[in-house]
Parts: sequence; structure tokens; C-alpha cells
Amino acid sequence: MLGDLVKPHRRTLVFAGLLTLAGSAGGLAMPLFVRSVIDRFGAGESVLGPVLLLSVVVLLGASISALGQFVLERMGEGIVLSARVRLVDRVLRLRVPEVDRLKPGDLLSRVTSDTTLLRTVITDGLVGAVGSAVLFVGAAVLMGVMDWVLLVVTLGVVAGVGGLGSLLLPRIRAASLRAQEALGDMGSALDRALQAFRTVKASGAEAREIAVIEAAATKARDRGVRSSAYQSIAGTTAWLSVQLAFLVVLAVGGARVASGAMTIATLIAFLLYLFFLVAPLGQMVQAATQLQNGLAALTRIREIDALPVEPAATQGQTTGVPVGVVFDDVVFRYGDDRPTVHHGVSFEAPAGRLSALVGPSGAGKSTVFGLVERFYEPGSGRISVGGTDIADWHLPDLRAAVGYVEQDAPVLDGTLRENLTFAAPDVTEEEIRRALARTRLDDLVDRLPEGLETEVGHRGILLSGGERQRVAIARALLRRPRLLLLDEATSQLDAVNELRLREVIAEVARETTVLVIAHRLSTVTGADRIIVMEAGRVRASGTHDELIAEDDLYRELAATQFLVNS
Ligand code: ADP
Repeated sequence: MLGDLVKPHRRTLVFAGLLTLAGSAGGLAMPLFVRSVIDRFGAGESVLGPVLLLSVVVLLGASISALGQFVLERMGEGIVLSARVRLVDRVLRLRVPEVDRLKPGDLLSRVTSDTTLLRTVITDGLVGAVGSAVLFVGAAVLMGVMDWVLLVVTLGVVAGVGGLGSLLLPRIRAASLRAQEALGDMGSALDRALQAFRTVKASGAEAREIAVIEAAATKARDRGVRSSAYQSIAGTTAWLSVQLAFLVVLAVGGARVASGAMTIATLIAFLLYLFFLVAPLGQMVQAATQLQNGLAALTRIREIDALPVEPAATQGQTTGVPVGVVFDDVVFRYGDDRPTVHHGVSFEAPAGRLSALVGPSGAGKSTVFGLVERFYEPGSGRISVGGTDIADWHLPDLRAAVGYVEQDAPVLDGTLRENLTFAAPDVTEEEIRRALARTRLDDLVDRLPEGLETEVGHRGILLSGGERQRVAIARALLRRPRLLLLDEATSQLDAVNELRLREVIAEVARETTVLVIAHRLSTVTGADRIIVMEAGRVRASGTHDELIAEDDLYRELAATQFLVNS
């Protein structure tokens, strides 16, 4: 995948490599210059010419090097940007079961922390590696031209020691991967505490939550330290290899000078090149170790890449007549290791009518909605919307046809207008006004200081529970759904809000199909069809009066809610 990311930039990479090579010519020329100066001194000639030439070369080289460095860094930023965009695109298109399984904090850390690590690796590691590889090759070529025997000796020593050091690379990668995992755990723990912030405070559990997060941070530190230990050992091998090579070259080179095979000036120049190699070699080792960190981050990014995603969704309004829903012997569980939630659910919610799902909590009512939206796939049985199996619907079309009002926190951070037009950004003012009127929210807009442009706060904390719910209904309505799924909030609504909700549901049901999960029977006594669910099965269905007469559980539910005296 690193290859995929770098591939579109390979021309830039080559260009920057050439710039670096041109830029380092000054540095590379230095030992040759030393040799020529020594020779000129020996011959009693002037050294002014070579000194002037070298100054110009060094200055020019420095400017070109800076340019090459900049080109590489900019390429690095570009690569990280595409990795981030790709990852975010992936995360938001993941299927619901994957997101249920992965923790939001961990996902967040993959998008932020792992891509940041990737950035460091590419800008420091890859950029450094390209520059130093160019220098290394350049120096090696010049050394070979001067004396190839000594070059072979040098490369042999460096490769030997470097090879030993490279044995550490897999360990560095493993330690780095575990350190990033610990960071992901830290993100998850922090996310958990922030999600339940008030509960944490009310329970006096701050210290305990802090301890959990601190433990994850400490784990990240320990694993980071282990990785650093390996990295410093690997780093030393570069230095060590040059020192060793220096001794060996001195011995072999000395013998060659004594035998007259080379001049003393060449030996000095050669040794200078050897020291010149320390910096690029060190940088190459550092790049290799950093690459291990980068590969660890890439592993975590690639895990997300490998997860199944959904086809691109569509925004905007739909057109079409109201559609009904049919469940036919649907069996479902949330995971292979989970208990079965639906044991053969069958019912029909006819098109253009108001139907209600009622029953004790845990009966599997909300799961019905998750299945209709195809957040999850049923194990067996058939679900059809508008007479077509939902498996045969194009997923974005299905989602566009179905409006879904969730039970909890259905308001997003932003203005009221943004919330209303979330699913259909192009609606007209007139449509917004009508949706507000239908959901009895016009007085709310008049009351808010900036009307539609008022910020409703994180999760809509500036609105009451009943208002939040009606904002969510208005949002769903603006998309003109052919089927509206409404999961009524479990929290108690006051009498005024409850009455309004009832009016709104009745009004919406005149225009489209409505399937509502009712926790208060009062909202749905007038429904065309009430479906009573219990423990993953449908036990009865009919109108309110029919069910009061025929179904014990329904009668009991009604009695506890003071609707009938039994
Ligand atoms: P109801 O809406 O009737 O209260 P639900 O459909 O919400 O019932 O839940 C039915 C069962 O499925 C419950 O036991 C619940 O714990 C389980 N359940 C609901 N959502 C999930 C989920 N995302 N992952 C795993 N289990 C779930």
C-alpha cells in the first residue's frame, strides 16, 4: 500500500532525487578537491583557482539541496493527504456491524494518530532515505573510481555490520504496532469517558477513568521505549560499521601505498569519503527503522481498508408512491456468537397506512428498523419493501426511499437549518416552512434567538427532548420518504409534547407509510395496524380494539398505561 501511495508521485521522487544529487555535488567534490590541493602543494602550484571553484559549487549545491528537500517534503504531505482522504472515505462508508465492533475512539486514532505517524515516516524517513541513498551511491562511485579494491573492502564491512543491525527491524515494527494499538485503546477509553461524561461525574468515577486512560498511555510509552531501544542499537551499527571500515581501509590502504599501488593523497581522499558516508548511512538506517513504524501505522490503516464498505449513498429528495414493508419468517442475530434476536418474524405494514410495533423492551422492535435499512443482513427469511426484496434494491435507493428517525440523540452539532436539510440540502424555504408547520416546530423557530440559523449545540442540547424528536422527524420528512420509520423516544414526554407527537404522526401518515415503534400506546391507538412483538416473535396484530379483545399481552400493556380498565 505504501507503494500505491507513492506511485502517483514517482516523477516527483525522481526529480527530487536528481536535485539532491546535483545539490550534493559540492559536498562530494570536497575530498577530490583535497587530493588536488595536496597534489598542487607538492608540485608548488597556486591553489586559488580550485578554492574559488569549490566555493561556487558548494553555494550552488546548498541552494539546489534546499529545493530538493522542499520538493520531497511537499510530496510527503501530498501522500499523507491522500491516505487521510482515503481512510475517512472508507470509515464513513463502513457497514454498521463493523462500526459496532470497532470502537469509535480507536477509529478516530487510526484516522488522526496513525496517519500522523505515516506523515513523519514519509517526510523524515522516505525523504531522508532518498537523499542519503543518492549521496551514498555518489560517494561509492567516486571511491570506486579512486580505488576499487578499497571500495570492495569498505562495502563488505558496512554490509556485514549493517546486515546484523537489520535483524532488529521486524522487532521495531512489532513494538511500534503495539504502541499504536495502545494509543487506539487510549482513544477508546477517552471516548467512553466523554460519551458518558455526566455519568462519570455523577458516579465520582473520574479517578478510575483517568487511571484506565493513564494505563493505556503508559502501555504506549513502554512499547515506544522498547522500540526506541531497538532503534538506537540499529542506529549505532551504522556508526560502528564506518569505524570498522576505517580501520580496515587504513590497514589495507597502507599496504597498497607501501607497495606503490596508490598515492598517499588518494588514501587520504578515500578516508575522507569514508567519513562522508557516516551521515547518509546513519540516515538510511534511521529511515529503515522509521519505515518500520510507518509499516505498523499502515497495517492499522490497511485493516480499515480491508473491511467491507457500502456503495456510495445519494442525498436529496426521492419521488414515488408510499411503499409497504413485509417481513416473512425473518431470523436474525447480531453476530455468530450472539443470541438469536428474531426467531422467524412475519408481519406486514401496508403501504400508505400507519402501523405500529409494540411490545416489551428487548422484543426486537428496533432491530426490525435496522434490518429494513439494511444496516444488517438477516440470517434467513425475506424482507420486502414496495413488493421488492430489499436485497434486490440498490442500497442507496432503498435508503433514500426510507426515512429513519432514530430513538436517541437524533440532532447533530450545527444550526437548526443544517439539521433540517441534512438529508436533502437543496430543499426550498417553502418546503422547510411546511415541514416545520407539520412537525409543530414553527413556534420553536420564532422563539430561538436566530431562528433557523441558531446553533443547537452538541447533540442538540439547546432543544428539549420532544423538540429534538420533531426536528428529526422534520429532517426525515424533507426527504419525502416513501416509508417513514419512527423509533419513538423511550424517555417521558410531557403531555403537550406527547399530544403534538401524536398529531404529527397522524398527519404524516396521511401522506406516506409510517411504521412507528411505540413505547406509549397512547401515540398509536389510532393506528391502522398494531403488531405486538414478544421475545423475537410477532404474537398478534390488529387494531387497538381487536387486540384489547384478543391479546393478553396487549391488554396488559394497555392496562399498565391506564388506557383501559381491566
Ligand atoms: P426493542 O427495540 O424491542 O427494545 P431491540 O431490537 O433494541 O429491542 O433489541 C433486541 C435484542 O438485540 C436485545 O437483546 C439487544 O441487546 C440486542 N441488540 C440490539 N442492538 C444490538 C447491536 N447493535 N448489537 C448486538 N446486540 C444488539
